[in-house]
Amino acid sequence: MRSTSLRLLGLQLLFDCIFVLLLFQPSESCAAEPPEEGTSTDTLILCRACGHEVAFGTDIHFVPSRMALSSRNDTSVGGRRIHVQLFENPHGHQFNVITFRRADVIKHWPADRHFSWYPGFSWTVATCPRCQTHLGWAFQPSSWPDTIPNNKFEESENTFLALITDRILREDFASSLLMTPKSFTS
Ligand SMILES: [Zn+2]
Repeated sequence: MRSTSLRLLGLQLLFDCIFVLLLFQPSESCAAEPPEEGTSTDTLILCRACGHEVAFGTDIHFVPSRMALSSRNDTSVGGRRIHVQLFENPHGHQFNVITFRRADVIKHWPADRHFSWYPGFSWTVATCPRCQTHLGWAFQPSSWPDTIPNNKFEESENTFLALITDRILREDFASSLLMTPKSFTS
């Protein structure tokens, strides 16, 4: 008797869940978390050279610098517009970069506080962990030691990365280039 009513309760909950899904989110599972406002949580940013998954679209985090030669707001990732800043290094080479809160890259300590595009922050070169392509730079407060454990960088709110737009790629854009059927990408 008790197990029957429990089973009925379970069925009722299941039907309720299906009903709610049909009403609001036909393609999502019961356990799916709502995406962050205005962003697509599953937009992946890849290394353009090898396809390594470097970051999520939600890791993009604008860190403005007065050292930027220009700052524009014109590339859409996951339905929102993001900031691209143009910087020049002491050798006269210019780089368009997007800033990220975190990214799966190798950081090459010790950090250098000279010629920083972000006054008050030291930088290291950041490379792809799979193919070693130079993807950009990681920034940490200049008051920190020049060499720190990777987890200290990862866990801090005061660190960020600037990745070169030409060397990264959006996963959905890469998929469209490859003409991969939707059923293989999900
Ligand atoms: Zn790579």
